[in-house]
Amino acid sequence: MRAFNYDIPTKVYFGEGKIKHLPDLIKQFGNKVLLTYGGGSIKRNGIYDEVQDLLKGCKIFELSGIDPNPRIETVREGAKICKENDIDVILAVGGGSTIDCSKVIAAAAKYDGDAWDLVMDGSLITDALPLVDILTLSATGTEMNFNAVITNFDVKMKQGTASKHLYPYASILDPTYTYTVPANQTAAGTADIMSHTIENYFQAEDNAFITDGLSESILRATIKYLPIALEDPENYEARSNLMWASTVALNGLTSMGKGGGWTTHPIEHYLSAYYDITHAVGLAILTPRWMRYILSNKTVDRFARYANKVWDIEETDDKFAMAEEAIEKTYQFFVDNGLPMTLPEVGIETDEHFEEMAKGPAERLSRAYVPLNPEDVVEILNRCMT
Ligand code: NAP
Ligand code: FE
Repeated sequence: MRAFNYDIPTKVYFGEGKIKHLPDLIKQFGNKVLLTYGGGSIKRNGIYDEVQDLLKGCKIFELSGIDPNPRIETVREGAKICKENDIDVILAVGGGSTIDCSKVIAAAAKYDGDAWDLVMDGSLITDALPLVDILTLSATGTEMNFNAVITNFDVKMKQGTASKHLYPYASILDPTYTYTVPANQTAAGTADIMSHTIENYFQAEDNAFITDGLSESILRATIKYLPIALEDPENYEARSNLMWASTVALNGLTSMGKGGGWTTHPIEHYLSAYYDITHAVGLAILTPRWMRYILSNKTVDRFARYANKVWDIEETDDKFAMAEEAIEKTYQFFVDNGLPMTLPEVGIETDEHFEEMAKGPAERLSRAYVPLNPEDVVEILNRCMT
């Protein structure tokens, strides 16, 4: 195993009714709250009213309409509200887009320059307003990590930033708040959880036994509970396991003792930056194609382990056959749960931008589990067309 530090300050309140802690969590920081949310799902499912009720006595400012694939313009708008009104604390209520956007607003509120600087270079983040969040969609893990992903369509970039100042102070994880997540977002969110886990699982170190076991458990949980959540959206057992899977998949635990660069996320960020597609749908499309592309004598043992431990495929001497079957099962799982599995299905009809897009993540992909060059990426994208 590699050496590591594990130091995550975020407090987690997990379970039905945990919103009761909200007043204490917020009021310790002051009276002026910036409430951030997306397109209105929290108004339709009642969380908005609950928050207003619990925070009576606070002065609440609002930033609504945060888009999926949150934009730098929204970050700038939020930072302006914070600065002009001397906001004490930010309360983000929503999915990864709302929380990521709020993280960078929190940092930009304490920064004199343009917020995009902080996205391009996380080391410029030296302070941030406290952030409390209420998660409403199981997917990104942002509720317990120090990452945020922001899109700047002007320069066709979707960029992740990171800083220890971006950890939420506290996250309220009530699985019942995900009962209203529509089927397509439930499936996409689960594909994101699986992708985070897979990106960390497929790394060179084979000896991080505890970490790999945790990853296998997360993947098995998603495979078990996604179909149940789709069939029965108010199934607490399914929603709670998916919610904790979301958090644990990307709060560092699945990479402890391992390490190395990711692959499908860096490629997907360019699909989203060029075509504004749903992050996790891009990942679901890319993952099985990437897996097939990198299957070789060097990687086959890891794939055979994935086949056996995650998909219950019987161990045989023919590890390539085990690997192929596991990759097919991965693909079929996404199909069976209603995810679009080709690029034309999400509106990417031609390969006209592939070469340009493939150059963007080149540096990161040179450090991936199996390093890829731009030609490899173009080939993988072409395989996603059918
Ligand atoms: P999202 O973009 O936050 O939300 C997707 C959709 O789900 C929105 O239309 C939202 O509607 C709806 N929704 C959310 N909760 C709902 C609920 N309880 N009931 C009904 N509808 C609900 O989705 P996400 O997958 O969580 O976040 C995606 C973003 O996170 C991407 O930009 C991705 O790149 C990023 N990401 C971040 C990390 C990280 O570590 N920080 C990791 C992976 C991905 P409303 O807008 O109306 O609420
Ligand atoms: Fe992701």
